[in-house]
Amino acid sequence: MAVNESMVQDIVKEVMAKMQLGAAPTVSHGVFTDMNEAVAAAKKSQQIVRRLSMDQREQIISVIRRKTRESAEILARMGVDETGMGNVPHKILKHQLVAEKVPGTEDIRTEAYSGDRGLTLVELGPFGVIGAITPCTNPSETVLCNTMGMFAAGNTVVFNPHPAAIKTTIYAINLVNEASLECGGPDNIAVTVEKPTMETSAIMMKHPDIPLIAATGGPGVVTAVLSSGKRGIGAGAGNPPALVDETADLHKAAEDIVNGCTFDNNLPCIAEKEIVAVDSIADELYYYMVNEQGCYPINEEQQKQLTDVVLKGGRLNRKCVGRSAKTLLSMIGIDVPDNIRCITFFGEKEHPLIAEELMMPILGIVRVKDFEEGVAAAKWLEHGNRHSAHIHSKNVDRITTYARELDTAILVKNGPSYAALGFGGESICTFTIASRTGEGLTSAKTFAKVRRCVMQDSLCIR
Ligand code: NAD
Repeated sequence: MAVNESMVQDIVKEVMAKMQLGAAPTVSHGVFTDMNEAVAAAKKSQQIVRRLSMDQREQIISVIRRKTRESAEILARMGVDETGMGNVPHKILKHQLVAEKVPGTEDIRTEAYSGDRGLTLVELGPFGVIGAITPCTNPSETVLCNTMGMFAAGNTVVFNPHPAAIKTTIYAINLVNEASLECGGPDNIAVTVEKPTMETSAIMMKHPDIPLIAATGGPGVVTAVLSSGKRGIGAGAGNPPALVDETADLHKAAEDIVNGCTFDNNLPCIAEKEIVAVDSIADELYYYMVNEQGCYPINEEQQKQLTDVVLKGGRLNRKCVGRSAKTLLSMIGIDVPDNIRCITFFGEKEHPLIAEELMMPILGIVRVKDFEEGVAAAKWLEHGNRHSAHIHSKNVDRITTYARELDTAILVKNGPSYAALGFGGESICTFTIASRTGEGLTSAKTFAKVRRCVMQDSLCIR
């Protein structure tokens, strides 16, 4: 059933040769030529998974964690080599984060109501086979964290990944299946096709054996999934603003914002994409960004040149997404030292390098008269995605106002955006943030069906 072993072997050999890590393991689990075959295999696997005890599921998840930790560097290098986006050290951190902080079966909790009329349990059960569409920006991170959550809830998963990241995706899918087999579980707890296309995506979305689809990506894919007639979980685009007011610790704000913005070259959808700064502190913030945080200021002419390159013909130039500041500057003929990690300038909120979700380390600063004008500008810049927004302020009332007005799935106060992923912040990690459909940061319980189980007039022993 598994197909084209030679192709996937080539992928691993290529990576191993580059990394000089020795013999390549077999990489073939969960890869099919045909989407219908992939769904059938995931369905067969789910018949076994649904009968595994919670303890068995947890054992498999713990092996996925170990393998993810062990393969963090391979996956990071594969992701960067294949997509040309992001950077290896940060991608290693992202995989370590997945291994440590993506919840497993502990997320599947039962609610109980007991009283004179008996006992009612509200339990979480599997949907069956879930369809998942994943982005090229965090390819293996998303596959691993989706699989862990979906599997913890008793599901198996069929991926239609971004074609630009298929090799990295296949590697991650093989990894989770090897973890299952190592623990005596079934193969094909996660599957994919070797050539994902819009056609394979359509087959998956329409397939009668797939009751739920989770889409992580831009507006097009989320709209497609929500129009499929199936239940959809939509983790869509963002354009997170970071608002800085006059009460903020400006040294820290500059450091946090630039750290968050430059993490994996700005690929995370939650990362700071622009700054809104109150006039009285805007110049000081800019000074710290340029003089302490490795930001390179560009003038109006350079802004025009950069706009022409990154938004070529008005469309996002994929060759610029997830590239370093140094690479982006070299595209407009500017050579900078390696310590330059971000590009900055002052501009109106309508400036294309500010208003568009670029996913590059470019931080335009919008100067506003006061906090109130800042909230309005940030709201406009977020474009109603209700995805992520960040604020640096010591005024609790203002933070509350901002949070209410922006109404986003994620809001980080006085920290870098990645604190919301559990990196230097409390709580769980996920790379699927269901901004459009409202589930927020997804985890095992997001991928479970709610069931009520009632015993009338018995089992209450109070
Ligand atoms: P993309 O939208 O180009 O692709 C995402 C996935 O959707 C890919 O697998 C692609 O093949 C597929 N796809 C695209 N259009 C489709 C359609 N009409 N029908 C079916 N499938 C379709 O996005 P990308 O460049 O891979 O990732 C970046 C985008 O994803 C950004 O907008 C970013 O904000 C968003 N994103 C969101 C989250 C989140 O959790 N909310 C996480 C990561 C990325």
